[in-house]
Amino acid sequence: MAIQTINPATGKIEKIFDEYPTEKVQSIIEKAHETFLNWREVPITERKKLMNRTAEILKEKRNHYGEIITREMGKPIKQASAEVEKCAWVCEYYAENAEQFLQREKVKTDASESYIEFDPIGVVLAVMPWNFPFWQVFRFAVPALMAGNVGLLKHASNVPMCALAIEEIFHTAGFPKHTFSTLLIGSKIVGEIINHPYVKAVTLTGSEPAGKQIAKLSGANLKKTVLELGGSDPFVVLEDANIDHAVSTAVTARLINNGQSCIAAKRFIVVEKIYDKFKDKFVEKMENVAVGDPMDEKTELGPIAREDLMYELDAQVKKSVEMGAKVLTGGKVLEATGYYYAPTILSELHKGMPAYNEEIFGPVASLIKAKDENDAVNIANDSNFGLGASLWTNDLNKAKKLAAKIESGNVFINGMVKSDPRLPFGGVKNSGYGRELSHYGIKEFVNIKTVWVK
Ligand code: NAP
Repeated sequence: MAIQTINPATGKIEKIFDEYPTEKVQSIIEKAHETFLNWREVPITERKKLMNRTAEILKEKRNHYGEIITREMGKPIKQASAEVEKCAWVCEYYAENAEQFLQREKVKTDASESYIEFDPIGVVLAVMPWNFPFWQVFRFAVPALMAGNVGLLKHASNVPMCALAIEEIFHTAGFPKHTFSTLLIGSKIVGEIINHPYVKAVTLTGSEPAGKQIAKLSGANLKKTVLELGGSDPFVVLEDANIDHAVSTAVTARLINNGQSCIAAKRFIVVEKIYDKFKDKFVEKMENVAVGDPMDEKTELGPIAREDLMYELDAQVKKSVEMGAKVLTGGKVLEATGYYYAPTILSELHKGMPAYNEEIFGPVASLIKAKDENDAVNIANDSNFGLGASLWTNDLNKAKKLAAKIESGNVFINGMVKSDPRLPFGGVKNSGYGRELSHYGIKEFVNIKTVWVK
């Protein structure tokens, strides 16, 4: 894939970038390693100052960076600016807490003294997706840098301006030049980077196929990985739920980020007794969504990020319909300049259909009827993915019992699934492994070292 900015709202190429030649990539890896040798000695109080400065820059220029995000991947401008603001939050969170998370832990043993230290490991490669082009990078880079590691970013090929802007932000904040480096490269040479002895670990946020490839390449080199992959999150609505609240959240949870979020609700599993009521309200609300120019503050749904992804989405819908799914609303590419897809709800779904089995990355909701709550949980778990889940009922005791049965990295009761620096984030099954954020995230890329003194 060429490294270029194509505005998805217009379909126009805005900027083309040259891929970095191999020698440049090699030189950046070497400089990153040299930088690491100094950076790991820098006191955490100094790292903290730089991270707080990074947060200030993000807040000062939230609109500027928000516009770059929207131009490159099409999310509504309000959501893009909010994403930049959230990156400032993760900087402040780790500036505040990293020292405590990485504090030496004393353990009583047969030694006169024994303790655990958390040492940085070196250069960490991050292969990142376009859908949250700032947030995904910051939530990897901030804990990594605070722990004393250095970062290399291979961003998705359609968001090079975001990739370069992030590198510039860290440099402007005062981080030494190669503590964070962007590599403008395609995915073909990722294997060579993973092979490099100075690269100690890899984190990928992306699709299941990319995850399998990165795991294979890293496994062959015995390098640690964290994989944050796709999802097909269930949104389970039980009989005693507040239906109006559930429906309005369902629309937001499906359409946020133009429907292209790993933790977007994708399968709406509603118990029989309230299915029709939920369905009618859901269809009505989806039909009233403001679709249009993502630069317009009033827009709720913008374009799909790339033309190929729009046609892939349409093919998944068409195949599901050929197999018997019913289109309750939408179900088509919109006749407009840019890559717009209609807000869509499909029903009458069964196993084997793309809209039942696969990750649907766009504004398409799969509505599924369950007999009762146990059936709903079984359907929720009938997926290869296990990222997030949302459960709607007024009986909180029941909700907590059901939450324990749901196979996912998180369950949100009466709320939309979201990431939060204070809570661990990640999946089970084909949604990946490892955790980002919270104290769990910062400990993924450290050497948990035991020291025993006689
Ligand atoms: P993608 O196509 O898998 O790409 C992700 C990154 O991997 C890009 O930098 C891409 O580079 C690179 N890549 C792709 N194939 C590769 C390969 N064979 N070897 C090495 N690198 C490879 O995913 P995307 O379309 O950007 O993002 C959407 C996906 O990310 C969805 O599945 C979504 O659910 C998932 N996601 C997961 C989380 C989470 O936290 N679990 C968060 C956000 C998104 P190129 O662009 O150059 O191909």
